[in-house]
Amino acid sequence: MGSIQLSHVNKSFGEVQVIPDISLEINDGEFVVFVGPSGCGKSTLLRLIAGLEDTTSGTILLDGQDMTKAPPARRGLAMVFQSYALYPHMTVRDNIAFPLKMAKASKEVIDQKVEYAARTLNLSSYLDRRPRALSGGQRQRVAIGRAIVREPKAFLFDEPLSNLDAALRVNMRLEITELHQQLKTTMIYVTHDQVEAMTMADRIVVLNAGNVEQFGSPLDLYNKPANRFVAGFIGSPK
Ligand code: ADP
Ligand code: MG
Repeated sequence: MGSIQLSHVNKSFGEVQVIPDISLEINDGEFVVFVGPSGCGKSTLLRLIAGLEDTTSGTILLDGQDMTKAPPARRGLAMVFQSYALYPHMTVRDNIAFPLKMAKASKEVIDQKVEYAARTLNLSSYLDRRPRALSGGQRQRVAIGRAIVREPKAFLFDEPLSNLDAALRVNMRLEITELHQQLKTTMIYVTHDQVEAMTMADRIVVLNAGNVEQFGSPLDLYNKPANRFVAGFIGSPK
């Protein structure tokens, strides 16, 4: 299960309110995209959910349980960073196994979960390579593999494709969407790219200056934008 409920979440850095007051509910198994211009608070909101930042006020429930003050490790969520967050000196196998080794899993469990992640991501024949001997897309898949082995309640992606060239981005979008269909695990995907949002999401959260302008399906946003900001951002003719 992986439902996420934010209630009146506020995040301030000193005097600056980056997120004034956000409430939203993400259902188990949904693919939700946070989209908005640079600096609008997408990463901050994701980091609050992950527990990498503390809320200033408000509550965060995961599967109905209050996790507002829980450290990241207790939340059961996995952040997927850009592919450059891989360890260059480790093989693909060891990169993917890393969270399991940190959690002191047995060798059998590690082997079984790494094999499963590698099969799911078409990386089985690359397990003994180092990241520098992989393509950009393969590196990104290793970063995702490191999340899969943890069997998280939800995957949290922060602009994972922004390092890749345009053609590869299109491919990786499809791969991530397929992964979601296969795993059926909740995913939150942060991007500033409207096309990515419109093509990948079950529902989109449109953020602007730390506020939710609209939360709806791509079709809703396109046909019934809540305001000029959403219409302009999504590119609807209205
Ligand atoms: P986005 O991911 O949408 O580009 P961020 O969440 O990174 O936006 O940042 C939102 C705002 O919060 C920005 O104005 C940024 O400068 C500010 N901010 C983010 N992290 C910090 C921090 N640790 N201290 C002070 N300000 C921050
Ligand atoms: Mg960001």
